[in-house]
Amino acid sequence: MPSRDSRYNILFEPMAIGPVTAKNRFYQVPHCNGGGYRDPSAAAAMRGVKSEGGWGVVFTEQCEMHHTSEITPFIELRLWDDADIPMIARMAEAMKSHGALAGIQLAYSGVNGPNFYTREVPLAVSAQPIRTFTNDPVQARALSKSDIRDLRRWFVNAAKRSKEAGFDLICLYGAHGFGIFQHFLSRITNHRGDEYGGSLENRSRFAREVIADIRDAVGDTMGLTLRVSLDETLGDLGFSNAELRDFIAMNADLPDLWDLAHGTWEDCSGPSRFKDEAAQEILVQGIRDLSTRPVVGVGRFTSPDVMARMIRSGTLDFIGCARPSIADPFLPRKIQEGRIEDIRECIGCNICITGDMTMSPSRCTQNPTFMEEWRKGWHPERMNAKGASSHVLIVGAGPAGLEAARACAERGYDTALAEAGTELGGRVARERTLPGLAAWGRVADYRTYQLSQKSNIETYLDSALTADHVLEFGFEHVCIATGSKWRADGVARQHVVPFEINSKMSVFTPDDLMTGHLPSGDVVLYDDDHFYMGGVLAELLVQKGCKVTLVTTSAMVSEWTVNTLEQHEIHRRLVEMGVCILLNRGVTAIGMDNVTTNCVFTGQTREIPADGVVIVGSRLPQDKLYQDLLARQTDWADAGIQTVKIIGDANAPGPIAWATYAGHGYARSLDAADIGDALPFRREVAGLSEPSS
Ligand code: ADP
Ligand code: SF4
Repeated sequence: MPSRDSRYNILFEPMAIGPVTAKNRFYQVPHCNGGGYRDPSAAAAMRGVKSEGGWGVVFTEQCEMHHTSEITPFIELRLWDDADIPMIARMAEAMKSHGALAGIQLAYSGVNGPNFYTREVPLAVSAQPIRTFTNDPVQARALSKSDIRDLRRWFVNAAKRSKEAGFDLICLYGAHGFGIFQHFLSRITNHRGDEYGGSLENRSRFAREVIADIRDAVGDTMGLTLRVSLDETLGDLGFSNAELRDFIAMNADLPDLWDLAHGTWEDCSGPSRFKDEAAQEILVQGIRDLSTRPVVGVGRFTSPDVMARMIRSGTLDFIGCARPSIADPFLPRKIQEGRIEDIRECIGCNICITGDMTMSPSRCTQNPTFMEEWRKGWHPERMNAKGASSHVLIVGAGPAGLEAARACAERGYDTALAEAGTELGGRVARERTLPGLAAWGRVADYRTYQLSQKSNIETYLDSALTADHVLEFGFEHVCIATGSKWRADGVARQHVVPFEINSKMSVFTPDDLMTGHLPSGDVVLYDDDHFYMGGVLAELLVQKGCKVTLVTTSAMVSEWTVNTLEQHEIHRRLVEMGVCILLNRGVTAIGMDNVTTNCVFTGQTREIPADGVVIVGSRLPQDKLYQDLLARQTDWADAGIQTVKIIGDANAPGPIAWATYAGHGYARSLDAADIGDALPFRREVAGLSEPSS
């Protein structure tokens, strides 16, 4: 086995955090997973895999430390009383299973917690409307002095419970606008006139008091970290990078480690379309010199060279990762073992974040096993043992087919992958050429490299297969992953059947644009898909010299990208590029030189002149081969075929993560026993208490 490149030795130095020592500098910062208190064993197993993958520090997601501040509907962890200890103890145990330090992030959400579940009146630093993604119609009242004393005690209680649960580290959450420490520090949320408000010294008081209290209670055995934002990015009153530096200089030795997050969550976890690796470097530089304490920072680090540079340059002491640790929980081990090419790099698509935003177990485009470690027993690096059969044919080398092929070969099946086109990657090969989406190509690159390393897989390009071919080959299992194509007839959500389109108008689909077939002049882009594609293509069209009007039935451009934390950036960019944006409008007819739009509320119509129209609507599964094979099912046995399955976009079009998941699941299920009507995953069911009398 190759060994570690000496350039990366620095990443494997042990580092103390107060009374505890991390075995290396790989630090999985707190991150949500959409499972939280609803799926505690699933979340615990996911953290356990990170420990196995070599991380020196593994943290929980944010953990509500008292019932007077909670963030329903979002699903994180809870530590409201002793009853929650077993749940978080399971997590700590999993984190420590392979030598990582186990960290818990304690959050009191204050002005960020609407308390929909507990119905408690929210307590905040100052009386203000609740500040959430959803503008909830709730206001918080200001903490009184006695409330502050209570809150300090509640933090100590939570710290003691964390210790009892087996954690080594406590992170006090004061970043992303979500945690009370930030609310005290920032003049946006701190309008107090007492000793907790006004000067920076006063605004720091609460953090100093709580850290002193917790240190007295558990500081002999636990390291205390403070997570702050590098810059609140909220204008003149916001907690700026300069003020943060003053705060750290003034309180240099306050926590055992400074955890530097950034701005709002959108700022901190921006997708690759808008933020590069190490994007926060300038905001972090020099902070380490203000304190004797170590510093961790994030920046979607996937490159060991960038990581080593961050340490060597004295910018960071720990490499903080959330998304890179999701895409590849074994990232540290792969560097340690000299297997850099095997790293499954995060593509920065933020699909993982959509889990939290939609309160569903998170998924990852690159790592289909994420949050299935416990539920389905999927491991990111190990497949289940091979079954009785041996030969598999995968048709289509998009994300679904590539992952199916990789995982089947990994399981030990002799695998053939046939692709009609001349390159691997399917939709990813095309979408990676669109503005800002280059990093998405890693979905194909990782898998293409893995396939090249296996002797039991043959790849055939330029091989458009028919049912005759498949029956001739006679593989035991045939997997159809032939993808989908964008519709040109406008059928999606506004129109469930085709509508009037004049054949003299030049109408284009995203597939047309991605293959270089482009409109010119005044172009109407009709987006009834609402994810990223409409906004990306508007950008492309402007780059190609078109004058673009984007029409969407939604109240927002690329509405679903709220869940990938980039909607605001997309809107800003399109406006800056000169795209005319028409919201809350649909398209009722496409004429020979114009488009009729309608208001979604009143139905009132208006015509827009156009030289060309791009319709971003829905996609049609390309399932002809599958249907042809089904029609010839009686021939299967003679051909030696046992199963024919259809997966990915050919089955039902969806985001890329859905396709890699389908591919992985296909490979896992080969030769599996029939479970009949049984539930195909484990789940946790609430334990019932005594009924009310
Ligand atoms: P998914 O997202 O489900 O992986 P894609 O559209 O990305 O779907 O990929 C499907 C791939 O299947 C494309 O690269 C396409 O060229 C290929 N393909 C479609 N039909 C055939 C066929 N009959 N034989 C071989 N390859 C095919
Ligand atoms: Fe990275 Fe996308 Fe996976 Fe999130 S879902 S970890 S952004 S590849």
